[in-house]
Amino acid sequence: MLVGVNEGRVAVAHNLTIKNSLITLKAAYLSGPYPSHEARQRQLNRLRLAIIENKSRLIGAAKTDFSVRSEHDTVLADVIPTISHINYLSKHLREWMKPEKRSSGLEFFPSKVLSEYVPKGVVGIIAPWNYPIQLALVPLATAIAAGNKVMIKLSEYTPAVNAVIKDVLAVLKGDCVVIEGGPDVATEFSHQAFDHLFFTGSTEVGKKVYTAAAQNLVPVTLELGGKSPLIVLEDANIEKVLLDIVFAKNMNAGQVCVAPDYVLVHEAIYDEFIKKLKLQFLKSNTRALKTGILNEAHAQRLKNLMVDAQDRGAKIYHSVELESIHSKEFGTHMVIDPPLDARIMQEEVFGPVLNIIKVQSIAHAKMTVQELGTPLACYLYTNCQIAQNDIRQNLQSGALCINDMLFHVAVPDLPFGGVGSSGFGNYHGKEGFVTFSHCKSIFQSSNNIWRSKLFSKYSHVIQRILTRLYLR
Ligand code: NAD
Repeated sequence: MLVGVNEGRVAVAHNLTIKNSLITLKAAYLSGPYPSHEARQRQLNRLRLAIIENKSRLIGAAKTDFSVRSEHDTVLADVIPTISHINYLSKHLREWMKPEKRSSGLEFFPSKVLSEYVPKGVVGIIAPWNYPIQLALVPLATAIAAGNKVMIKLSEYTPAVNAVIKDVLAVLKGDCVVIEGGPDVATEFSHQAFDHLFFTGSTEVGKKVYTAAAQNLVPVTLELGGKSPLIVLEDANIEKVLLDIVFAKNMNAGQVCVAPDYVLVHEAIYDEFIKKLKLQFLKSNTRALKTGILNEAHAQRLKNLMVDAQDRGAKIYHSVELESIHSKEFGTHMVIDPPLDARIMQEEVFGPVLNIIKVQSIAHAKMTVQELGTPLACYLYTNCQIAQNDIRQNLQSGALCINDMLFHVAVPDLPFGGVGSSGFGNYHGKEGFVTFSHCKSIFQSSNNIWRSKLFSKYSHVIQRILTRLYLR
């Protein structure tokens, strides 16, 4: 009972913090709704320096939060992409902020028309645990570059990283507030009247966030997960595919939103592919510095998915025996020919387990992908131009990589986001700046009275002229 009362008090305290912080941030926004380029640039520089100064603490904190987090994964996939995005924002910000001339047409001569990106106001950001640095700080830096104030809710699974992020963000005092907590706090957070809400996380939670935001007509970006397919055609360079799979399924232990979830292999190379992948998975177990599964509960979820698939007739290849698997040493696993209604084909895997399915043709591969929801990324290995064009134009996905995997996420100039069940909206590239801005239309005339007089005196003549021009 006492615990319940205390928990209740903590929840009320969090709710008050969220509400009060929003009021403070809105007031800060209203006191200077359009920060200059210099002011934004100063904030980006401060943020960049604070991250670099705290990089060793961030690496250590990620090790504390994950069962095992390799320094390699934290540096290469969390810290460096954050800095590279901030550098990219700094480089392009001035040009993006410039108003753009548009055409008013002859009818509105001599008025000028322009479009200009202005800050939206206060942006809410909800972050997941798998890349706790990059997925919190890249949207935050982009929102700051667009001139906004930010309230960010960090993941409850990464308290050590959160503590360092709070120190890092102290350099943006006044522009940004950090909130921590689990689903209760997150639910309260997503119900606030932000000027934009940016969510990264699972599809299930994304639906709740969308519903909550709708109550206040808050525009939303949903960066969700899902099942990203890898299609391997008969002419693919198998050695390259295998090395890339091992890289992708070991990176952060496959806990990556764009990790290949299942592979559709052409029947002509199917047996050879499986035989060779088994060897590669076995080899990769001896690698030092591997990230583990976040915790035992997440490891158990993955085990359950494999057991369910086996019960439904799939063959399983374990590079580490199922009985000895735990979060720190999970190994990599193949689920061969799972039925499409098995849990492992219905849920996102999000771990070092790869489903393998035989296909007869590219049409068969496309049909299978379409049945499993619109993916965040699609990977295609073939040199056949016709097949490349077919997948590019006729199969929907957030992104397409041809003869490669994962790297598209790390290119700052390339927009990143899902479509359909993998979400909507983009960030990275100029699209990130656009996401966090309102594109304001400006119609500008001089205070010369002649056109106003013309319209009031000769509106019937103008109507006749325009009718001739447009409606004949
Ligand atoms: P999650 O959806 O469980 O949690 C994400 C965030 O939402 C956390 O901060 C959590 O506290 C919060 N949350 C929980 N319940 C909520 C609610 N009812 N309302 C509002 N917020 C709530 O996701 P996760 O386990 O942290 O991350 C893994 C998932 O995120 C995977 O599905 C993965 O594919 C996806 N993901 C997507 C991207 C992307 O860029 N598209 C990147 C990384 C991860």
